[in-house]
Parts: sequence; structure tokens; C-alpha cells
Amino acid sequence: MPCFDNKKRVVVKIGSSSLAYPETGSLNIRKSRALIEVLADLKNSGKEIVFVTSGAQCVGAAKGGFLKKPQDTPSKQACAAIGQSELMKFYSETFEQYNHKVAQLLLTRDVVSNQTRRTNVINTFNKLFEMNVIPIINANDVVSIKQLDFDENDTLSAIVAKLCKADLLVMMTDVDGLYDGDPENPDSKLIPVVEHITPEIISLAQGSGGTLGSGGMLTKIEAAQIATESGIDTVIVGNRNPKILYELFESENAKCTFFKKQD
Ligand code: GLU
Repeated sequence: MPCFDNKKRVVVKIGSSSLAYPETGSLNIRKSRALIEVLADLKNSGKEIVFVTSGAQCVGAAKGGFLKKPQDTPSKQACAAIGQSELMKFYSETFEQYNHKVAQLLLTRDVVSNQTRRTNVINTFNKLFEMNVIPIINANDVVSIKQLDFDENDTLSAIVAKLCKADLLVMMTDVDGLYDGDPENPDSKLIPVVEHITPEIISLAQGSGGTLGSGGMLTKIEAAQIATESGIDTVIVGNRNPKILYELFESENAKCTFFKKQD
């Protein structure tokens, strides 16, 4: 596993399970604050941080009085609208404590297919980097239609990494990376480096995500494929302690799975 100290523009993606309590869906303030502190500090160290966050639907569902995340599209969209403003308020205030400015970008999949829209987004990213502002991205769930758009944020994070020409994509999740078996089984081993995403690697990524989010290991491997094929090194890392992000940039021993970019 290399040390990523030379990577400057870094996309960090977190899922709903990284920032909300599974029991209630409400924001886990302690965990989210700890992550923002590390991101703010990495920015202070000279990195350009791009933050892709899920969580709008589950945080909005909790705030909107749902006992669990609803399944019908209008309710999901309403919850996303409630939760997104809640999340942005928290991110904006917390980054502000470290003197960092943030901007919200809500994207739909046509940023891939529609050249004008893609150019608009790229121009926005470039201007925000010039202005030293941290872009915070989620899918625009209110205007998106499930199946046709981003219904999980792993793919979105890979597309964002491409659009902003990131040096590294980091996806944080409930497990420390890709295992050669069931991560719950103590005999399974973490795979530290994936040179190529083969059918064997894809078959290891079975199973779905947790109760809060929509993605899982498979969508992360697919995202890693999009990013590495676009020349972007990609890492899947655990979300238990955000200080693991320091280790990625300071040591060669961070516990994670590294997917090598394809030249
Ligand atoms: N845009 C969704 C949200 O913010 C992402 C869902 C997911 O990836 O779990 O809730």
C-alpha cells in the first residue's frame, strides 16, 4: 500500500451509515464532527478536499417524523429535501469553526451525458477551487427519478472524481475494505491492493448495504472501476475512526483496500 502524501485533490465520500445513528436515522453529531475536523485539518495541510455525502434521506426521515426511511419515491424526495438543508447547516457551521467555506452541489446523472451541463459543473468546481471553497456534493434526489439517476452515491463519487480531475477517491464505509470472504468471519482477510478489477474481485463484493444507505460493496467496486479506468487511484476504508484518513497520507500501513489506477 503506498503512502498518498503526494495526492493533492482528494474526493472523500461517506455514506448514510457513516453519519447517522442506525437506530434513529438522526445525525451522529460526535462522529460527523470528528470527520469534519479531520477534513478541515487535511485542507489546512494543503489538500484540496471534495466531500461527497449521503444521509439526506435518512436524516430528513428522522426529522420528518418517520420511524424508518420510507420506500416510496415522493416521501424519499421530501425527506431528502428536509435532510439536505439539515446536513448543509451542520457542515457549513462545523467547517466554519475551522475557517473553511463550503458550497453545495446537487447533481443529476445528466452531468455525464449532457456536455453543456458537464461543462457547467466542471467550471463551477474549478472556480470553487480557485476561491478555496470546499465543494460538498450529493445527488439531487428531488428532481431525480430512481433507476434513471443516482440512487446511491458511490457512482456519484466516482463521477465527481472524474469531473474535478481528482488525484484520489476515498470511499469510507462500515468495513475496512474488501475482504476475501465474509467480513464478519474472523478467517477472512482484508485485500490490501487490487491491481485490476477482475470478475473474481467483483464476486467478492456480494451482499447489499446496511439499513440506512443504498449502496454496498458492489456499488463501491463499480465506482472504483469507473475511477481507476479514468486514471484515478481509489481507496475503500473504514469509517469507525476518521483519523484513518491521516494514515492514508502519512504512512504505508493504513488498513484499507487500494485500487490501482489503470494507465
Ligand atoms: N442521495 C441519497 C441521500 O442523501 C443517497 C443515498 C445513499 O447513497 O445511501 O440520502
